[in-house]
Amino acid sequence: MSQLACRRVLLKLSGEALMGDEDYGIDPKIIGRLADEVIEARAAGAEIALVIGGGNIFRGAGLAAGGMDRVTGDQMGMLATVINALAMQDALEKRGGRARVMSAIKINDVCEDYIRRRAIRHLEKGRITIFAAGVGAPFFTTDSGAALRAIEIGADLLLKATKVDGVYDKDPKKHSDAVRFDSLTYDDVISRDLQVMDTAAFALARDSDLPLRIFDMSQPGVLLRILRGENIGTLVRG
Ligand code: UDP
Repeated sequence: MSQLACRRVLLKLSGEALMGDEDYGIDPKIIGRLADEVIEARAAGAEIALVIGGGNIFRGAGLAAGGMDRVTGDQMGMLATVINALAMQDALEKRGGRARVMSAIKINDVCEDYIRRRAIRHLEKGRITIFAAGVGAPFFTTDSGAALRAIEIGADLLLKATKVDGVYDKDPKKHSDAVRFDSLTYDDVISRDLQVMDTAAFALARDSDLPLRIFDMSQPGVLLRILRGENIGTLVRG
């Protein structure tokens, strides 16, 4: 346990991370691999909270663009995050992990309501705690939910898994000379207008001095390596 650089972390996965090569839904192989990574990190002694997006199923903004009421769309998006959280809970438990889903909106026939003190208790008992439904309000994203919950539970670090292996000075898919940053301050992110998380989530993290690490989770073992202190991806802090 002592070899870990972080004791309690919150890992944010996008809904799209669960799709694999599909264009919708959940690929059981992918969610299984992600669950393996989380269990490995938990077994090393870290207390792990998860936030999973819903973009593999619904996003409110996308539904609104198709003509739906935005608030209804966002509510569907929040329910999508609950579906993903339940799938992850199942994948973790199938592998011998102990997990709990806590939702910001009340759906307590299928999971627990989010109660901060209870969430911290779950983490202290070694349960992988999955926070669903973001902040529980429309017009927010699960990035904001991740930042908020990370601050509430006193996480040492917010890990954001993306398809790109960190933050670049320009889009590496469009520019072959794009340069990746090893570390940035919050002020660097603002002055260079870099896209790290959505604005509300970033403001929450900066105001509470919550360090963020943006990294690519496709390499096996990367989560544990980060928890052991390797400088993988891009670290953003004050
Ligand atoms: N959402 C919301 N409030 C929240 C979190 C999420 O209304 O606090 C809705 C919103 O419509 C969002 C969708 O849920 O688009 C799915 O979340 P997100 O887009 O963050 O998922 P990701 O892009 O990470 O897969």
